[in-house]
Amino acid sequence: MYFKNILVPYDESDHAKSALHIALGLAGPYPEAKVSVVTVIPSAALPNPTLLSDGSLDVPYALGDPSTYERIMEATVERASSDAQAVIDQARDDAECKIVADAVIADSPVEGIADYVKSHDIDLVVMGRRGLGALRGMIGSVSFGVLRSVDVPVLTVK
Ligand code: ATP
Ligand code: MG
Repeated sequence: MYFKNILVPYDESDHAKSALHIALGLAGPYPEAKVSVVTVIPSAALPNPTLLSDGSLDVPYALGDPSTYERIMEATVERASSDAQAVIDQARDDAECKIVADAVIADSPVEGIADYVKSHDIDLVVMGRRGLGALRGMIGSVSFGVLRSVDVPVLTVK
């Protein structure tokens, strides 16, 4: 098996599900291969930690204390990876490769994916050409950004 460590960036779109099927088609027969299905949660989608209340803020959206913020982050990451795990359970059939669900927080999906590629020794990215975005066109901004920012091969699928 030429590719042993495949990343499928996952945003819950049908395109990303197609990408997972293609990745499993490539890696499925090989017990030594691994497919990582990873959702990036943009940090802007989380509550702003500067709103943490030290008692001086009297705003309804103040979060209380840092441990509350930690808990929100952990719960968000946990939920995203268990959503991905449910999709894996449906898609895995008799695949013999390892398949893991993961979620990371990053400034942007592109940065999160590019960092993951480096830190996890990824040798192939398989991703949707489009995602959840409503705009139609050739290729989504996340796919475009990943193509520009990683050095490993990227397979984009419809
Ligand atoms: P845009 O977001 O630019 O409006 P789009 O949503 O149609 O366009 P992209 O966001 O580029 O297209 O999605 C293309 C692929 O990128 C998806 O199929 C998925 O594989 C991946 N992707 C997109 N967003 C994320 C994310 N937050 N985390 C992980 N993977 C993602
Ligand atoms: Mg998108």
